[in-house]
Amino acid sequence: MTQGQTTAQHHDTVSADTSISPFIPLTAHHLRFTVMAETEIRFYDFKGSALRGAMAGYLKRTYCPEWRAEKTDPLHQALCPVCQLLSYELAPESGGDIRRPFALQPPMTEQNDFAPGESFSFGLTLFGNQLAYLPYLVLAVRAAGEDGVGVRKVNRQRGRFRLERIDAVNPLTGATQAMLTPGAAMVQTATLPVTHDQVLATANRLAQQVQTHDNRLAVTFLTPTRLIQTGHTAKTAAFFPLMKQVVLRVLDLCAQHGEGRPAVVLKRDIYPAADAVEVVTDNTHWWDVAGYSGRLGREQRLGGLVGTALYRAETWEALLPWLVWGEIVQVGKNVVKGCGVYRLQGG
Ligand SMILES: [Zn+2]
Repeated sequence: MTQGQTTAQHHDTVSADTSISPFIPLTAHHLRFTVMAETEIRFYDFKGSALRGAMAGYLKRTYCPEWRAEKTDPLHQALCPVCQLLSYELAPESGGDIRRPFALQPPMTEQNDFAPGESFSFGLTLFGNQLAYLPYLVLAVRAAGEDGVGVRKVNRQRGRFRLERIDAVNPLTGATQAMLTPGAAMVQTATLPVTHDQVLATANRLAQQVQTHDNRLAVTFLTPTRLIQTGHTAKTAAFFPLMKQVVLRVLDLCAQHGEGRPAVVLKRDIYPAADAVEVVTDNTHWWDVAGYSGRLGREQRLGGLVGTALYRAETWEALLPWLVWGEIVQVGKNVVKGCGVYRLQGG
């Protein structure tokens, strides 16, 4: 085979795929924060909500004059980065649900107690070209470490940590780039965005892997994933609600933080293919985890499905690009607290 033929074939493959799934005009920047405990840290079961709560508290106190208000006026909301990052609701002009410009990936470890000197990492994903929020988030991580996180000790203090480094990470290509290294004062800007082309390339590789596994796809829910199924919380890993909520979330993110909502007709482009997917095995269980909500001033149930479900379909092509995007942006309730992280592989 000549070089020319190889290129032509490759080109055909790409155009065939894009006719099945639309171009999704979204980018995402994933940042990994590595911190070191300065005093003993004891987390509750779910570390994500503790980290998010400490960051949110600092941002509100420091930058938002209206953080105590029950309702803030729309002009303030439109201008205040803290309100946009955090809790206030502005009805999106483009329809759909309001989607925060970031998601949090909690430390992926069972360890809840950290002795002084021990390190752990967590991730923040910023959607679209929202890097303007980055300085606020870096300051918020630093402040969270100084204020402390997790369970209060006898002396009423929470465990403190120090921000050691920040890396830009592209989960699809594996590329990493240091943004802040120990001892450095300056944070370098991230330049490793996840793009739709990379998502398509990943989806194509995954499609081949799935084919060699009798068209089975394994989805592993790493953090509690809470999906709505016909008005109720889904307590088993049915495929349809997962697929539907991934697509709705990605469409909203395109509209609110990307370059516009792609023309997708769910009932034509998504639902028939999603309906045809069957559950082979469901090894998920409900994790009824509690987190603390500073905004509500009480414990909040953050439960959801964790574990692995195996699905099978005759054809996955129309669905895989969306599901790969879902791996990047997370799905379901409480993604800003670290819920809805999942991974895909041929099963
Ligand atoms: Zn505000």
